[in-house]
Amino acid sequence: MSKIKIAELFYSIQGEGRYMGVPSVFLRTFGCNFKCAGFGMPRGESSKEADNIAVMHAMHRFDKYEELPLVSTGCDSYASWHPDFKELSPMLTTDAIVERIMEILPHGEWQDEHLVITGGEPLLGWQRAFPDLLSHPKMSGLQEITFETNGTQKLDPNFKEYLADWLWGSDEREITFSVSAKLPCSGEKWEDAIKPEIVCEYEQVGTTYLKFVIATDQDFADAECAIAAYRRAGFKGHVYLMPVGGVESVYTMNNKNVAVLAMKHGLRYSDRLQVPLFKNEWGT
Ligand code: SF4
Repeated sequence: MSKIKIAELFYSIQGEGRYMGVPSVFLRTFGCNFKCAGFGMPRGESSKEADNIAVMHAMHRFDKYEELPLVSTGCDSYASWHPDFKELSPMLTTDAIVERIMEILPHGEWQDEHLVITGGEPLLGWQRAFPDLLSHPKMSGLQEITFETNGTQKLDPNFKEYLADWLWGSDEREITFSVSAKLPCSGEKWEDAIKPEIVCEYEQVGTTYLKFVIATDQDFADAECAIAAYRRAGFKGHVYLMPVGGVESVYTMNNKNVAVLAMKHGLRYSDRLQVPLFKNEWGT
């Protein structure tokens, strides 16, 4: 039986993208190939918030995710990849994960809820474990899955084949890749973050869309360059603009401007409903 290192497993409302408002189980895997320390910072500078919290953690242990401080700069799910917090993320068998999912679903079984497999970056090594999870008998009622990915990880051929078979299991089933491609405002390098051929491969398996986090005009100019690169590679999916802001004060400064920008350019707007509804606290 496979095991997955789980940063968080919780039930909430999807706050972003295509399934905004849909009741969802969030399975957040541990580990990411990026740090995204540039979010909310002046260009070229890196947030130190996660590292500072790691220092606090070394002195006064936080016992669970819910106790960790929220950050206003850098990656808002920092504890899902920062090595100093890895002991907060247990390695669980797929059976144990399924049991926990049944406990948090309101009816103890899948009905109209959808599964969000997020991270960290969920398409790192965990691709090998997902078939065990999704093939569990108690997961047979699941109809919709979204992989929230940064769009840099190729699909493992066996996993790709598994997903194609999973879709054949029912006409109602849908797979979505929500690709939050990282622009230079994230602090990550363009050549590492913008991988059009990889994202085009996701389109062979499921509905795939791009989601860009925007704070400034420069971010939008970068998004336009990235969109052109994805289109040149053959990407056909929708594009969403989403305001930066893991905390409410930053989100409310940006959300209306980003919505207007999206309208002006005929792009889709994605909110971050978890921020106004739940303050983006861990477990929401
Ligand atoms: S890709 Fe996502 S999870 Fe990874 S560091 Fe960036 S924002 Fe955080």
